[in-house]
Amino acid sequence: MRRLIIAGNWKMNKTIKEGEDLIVSFKRRLYNIENIDIVLCPPYTLLSSLSDMLISSNIKLGAQDLFWENKGAYTGKISASQLKDVGCQYVIIGHSERRHYFGETDEMVNKKIKAAIKSALVPIVCVGETLSQREQNQTFEVIKGQIQEGFKDFSQEEIKNLVIAYEPVWAIGTGRNATAEQAEEVQVYIRNLLAEIYDKDIAQGIRIQYGGSVKPENIEQLIQQPDIDGALVGGASLEADSFSQIIEKCIPFS
Ligand code: PEP
Repeated sequence: MRRLIIAGNWKMNKTIKEGEDLIVSFKRRLYNIENIDIVLCPPYTLLSSLSDMLISSNIKLGAQDLFWENKGAYTGKISASQLKDVGCQYVIIGHSERRHYFGETDEMVNKKIKAAIKSALVPIVCVGETLSQREQNQTFEVIKGQIQEGFKDFSQEEIKNLVIAYEPVWAIGTGRNATAEQAEEVQVYIRNLLAEIYDKDIAQGIRIQYGGSVKPENIEQLIQQPDIDGALVGGASLEADSFSQIIEKCIPFS
């Protein structure tokens, strides 16, 4: 059975003080969760102080992006080894906001995944179709392209620990989540594709999260699906109560 993984993406939200207060609440509420991986991905400016607060905690630290070079003259960029150095264990790669606002391509996603794996960071790789692509029945084709290009030239060994987040772009931050059936259909497609590219055992082991307006009100339907192994949560991870409730509601399925 795959271990559930719930990750919070704070995006460009929270000051250091606000983030620290939230961590205090999360730790108080979630300290006894043992069978679910909990990951928080705050902005870079909070990583250092939250890293100290999360030492010996069941909540792991992740970043929202990285740059593929290890060091050098790349103003404004942060490398995998720097993330590792500050205490990150995970990194989100290819989020749709990065793809759409910052022109991130599958080729860049591929380089970023490579850099993350090299530094022993677990990549949470986001894939997903836009509304118009879904309406034109291009969902599977788009996902296939993102996975084939993004995962190009990886061995089974490299790929086996990464996490995929299926995030339909039309569901992110819109309050309109995919139904459990819509999400499951694509996640089964992703798993079958991984079985084709790698093999069945690898595909069965890779965790696939759903992301897109996940809330305490809809997590139970989603997490019951056999191929949904957790959630990537944006808005609802910014409040102690909603994020904690999402995790608590997953306990019976963990
Ligand atoms: C996200 O940012 O990955 C996300 C899914 O956001 P939200 O939960 O707010 O839709």
